[in-house]
Amino acid sequence: MTATNRRRVLLAKPRGYCAGVDRAVITVEKALEQYGAPIYVRKQIVHNTHVVRTLEERGVIFVEETSEVPEGATVVFSAHGVSPQVHQEAAERNLRTIDAACPLVTKVHKEAQRFAAEDLDIILIGHTGHEEVEGTSGHAPEHIQIVDGPEEVASIQVRDPDRVAWLSQTTLSVDETNATVEALRERFPNLIDPPSDDICYATSNRQAAVKAIAPQCDLFVVVGSANSSNSVRLVEVARDAGARASYLVDNATFLEEEWLEGVTTIGVSSGASVPEILVQELLDRLASYGFTDVEEIETEREKLTFALPKELRSRRARDN
Ligand code: SF4
Repeated sequence: MTATNRRRVLLAKPRGYCAGVDRAVITVEKALEQYGAPIYVRKQIVHNTHVVRTLEERGVIFVEETSEVPEGATVVFSAHGVSPQVHQEAAERNLRTIDAACPLVTKVHKEAQRFAAEDLDIILIGHTGHEEVEGTSGHAPEHIQIVDGPEEVASIQVRDPDRVAWLSQTTLSVDETNATVEALRERFPNLIDPPSDDICYATSNRQAAVKAIAPQCDLFVVVGSANSSNSVRLVEVARDAGARASYLVDNATFLEEEWLEGVTTIGVSSGASVPEILVQELLDRLASYGFTDVEEIETEREKLTFALPKELRSRRARDN
């Protein structure tokens, strides 16, 4: 095999767990330690099948709504954030709550509240039905309307075109969101921007890393679950940046041998909710097909970490 046709893997970095997911998973583990099983979690704590199954084995019960949690039990709210109404429902049921909402999602909630206090019409760019979008909308339900791409901008109705602000879900495609904002600004020239980007550092960094290596790849494989918005975006980014084909796999067993036909360079990354072990298992499987040459390409060094939710911090302080 010559140097030009050797089988190789280009491994994107940063990939996998972001600070918000890491914090959310540790939050559930600490809640299990401090309060004992069962711990209830509203919705998937993070959008990853492996993480959810592992926590279920340790005594976590995942529910869709707080109404399914027995009165007085402990419930953790997921990294995607919840609306004030969900907190209210939990209080009415006398639940002990721990809010694992990522601080970068909470930041968007506060922006929504501030824009609503100024009585602006708020355009929230995001996917209808996604938990984060539902949570953010719930912080300013009278003011927010959701837009899922530039093609939906024409049909927006606002009270005053000069008093319109925009926000976004944290895990969108950076390029597509820019296109939607451009379309909004064309319709509303005085459009008000959020104080800082809502698409979070982890989403942007993972997309930039994929973009940097995708043009060299015949195939790009992203590890992530189908309901993970940021993982799905990585597959699209890889394709748009020049990878000949790109796929999402929940784990290594989903890799299909036929994808490897005629392929010499494979790009690999993983979504922000994906534990590194799943990437390592994919690399092992690729190695069994001769893709043993793995080069990690780092485009950004991440150092961010978040403190645990205040409910766990105060309990710790009391215990000390
Ligand atoms: Fe927070 Fe971004 Fe991770 Fe979502 S993807 S949990 S917003 S850091």
